[in-house]
Amino acid sequence: MDINRVSDILAKHDLRKTAVRIQVLAYFLESDTAISHGQLEKEMEDTDRVTLYRTLKSFEETGIIHKAIDGTEVARYALCAGECEHHHHEDDHAHFHCGKCCETVCLDEVVVPMVNLPQGFQQESAHLIINGICEKCKL
Ligand SMILES: [Zn+2]
Ligand SMILES: [Zn+2]
Ligand SMILES: [Zn+2]
Repeated sequence: MDINRVSDILAKHDLRKTAVRIQVLAYFLESDTAISHGQLEKEMEDTDRVTLYRTLKSFEETGIIHKAIDGTEVARYALCAGECEHHHHEDDHAHFHCGKCCETVCLDEVVVPMVNLPQGFQQESAHLIINGICEKCKL
């Protein structure tokens, strides 16, 4: 675990260092796919669900992680690229959901395109979800 990197991120987002926050953030840093609440629970069996839920919530609110919208019923979260701040996310990239391993990854390079909406419609958010088979499963 890169404890310095973990500490830096928590400090940057004004979050006090707690054992659970450190553990959860380290898990996010090590993972290259989005993480669901269930996965996190399994990984951290000794921590109660409410604490984990609050930890995810505080990470999302302060701009450390974002919801990786992938069109499934499961809410997954992924690490933000770094420009996100308190209550202001800049994660305008697509998410790829693999039908084989059911993992979701951020496609940081694929930007959600701007669309022209009919008159009178106001956009609040847009999500781009790509379904398919991921690099690992294709091998
Ligand atoms: Zn973000
Ligand atoms: Zn896959
Ligand atoms: Zn993402």
